Amino acid sequence: EARRLQSSDWVRFNPVMQADIQHRSELEHDLQRALETNQFFLEFQPLICLKTNTVECVEALLRWQHPVKGVISPNEFIPIAEESGLIVPIGRWVLLEACAQASRLPEHIRVAVNISAVQFLHDDMYAAVIQTLFQTGLAANRLELELTESIFLDAVQRNLETMSKIRALGVKIVMDDFGIGFSSLNYLRSFPFDRIKIDRSFIRDMLNDPQAESIVSAIMTLGHAMSMEVVAEGVETAAQLDMLRHTSCSTAQGFLMGRPAPLADLTALPGMNG
Ligand code: C2E
Ligand code: MG
Ligand code: MG
Ligand code: MG
Repeated sequence: EARRLQSSDWVRFNPVMQADIQHRSELEHDLQRALETNQFFLEFQPLICLKTNTVECVEALLRWQHPVKGVISPNEFIPIAEESGLIVPIGRWVLLEACAQASRLPEHIRVAVNISAVQFLHDDMYAAVIQTLFQTGLAANRLELELTESIFLDAVQRNLETMSKIRALGVKIVMDDFGIGFSSLNYLRSFPFDRIKIDRSFIRDMLNDPQAESIVSAIMTLGHAMSMEVVAEGVETAAQLDMLRHTSCSTAQGFLMGRPAPLADLTALPGMNG
């Protein structure tokens, strides 16, 4: 009779997985030193107001310039930073750096910063936000924090309180990647989001897939009913943008309007010069 496989067998017998584990543990090791040796930098992607066709906000996106492996995507290293707890100091650095850079932009431009659920729970986010605004001189109403649905998975009451306190400062709270995660519409009722960003998978498919289109229009209706602005992410084609213009979508973001880039490269866009 065959012996039941154990997880240790799986690791031993699967060279691909073993290489993956090795790669991850190397990255985790290297991540420890990345902050102190200035290997992180930020790119910014514009969010365009569909009423005025000007930039209203820029989203800060973290990049890791690894000394050997080159630039590594946040999709690859953020999960490792979350598991190791390094996301807390890294996330603090992102918040400070993003606000410092944004404080030099025209006053009507806001900055959006992604906050991992792990960071939101394990850092003192309220204190971090106050300290960052004080240190950089950025007005609270120029800061947006982007949270994902994983904020609902753990310590819901505590997260709700933290959100409410931060929001009372005038900081906007945004639900990122809406529609793909742990969705409970009931949470939207009790959590005070200012904006929701429709996940880019729905925007990508909405012109060819009637179901994706239905979901997009349902989110628009929901957002409107709950006094939340709706943002479309991942807009890549003129046809997608044109379709969004016929809805109540307030804001669009995507490669069509601008790829993530150093802030200095965005100055030519409408709205960025005052
Ligand atoms: P996100 O917050 O949803 O950011 C948008 C992602 O979609 C970015 O990828 C952006 O480059 C990409 N994107 C924007 N427009 C388009 C488009 O038109 N087409 C396509 N195909 N992609 C588009 P990026 O920079 O690789 O970031 C991936 C994710 O990593 C982010 O998704 C966010 O969840 C996370 N992330 C990035 N920076 C940070 C950070 O500072 N802190 C935390 N906690 N997470 C971060
Ligand atoms: Mg985001
Ligand atoms: Mg997003
Ligand atoms: Mg996303």
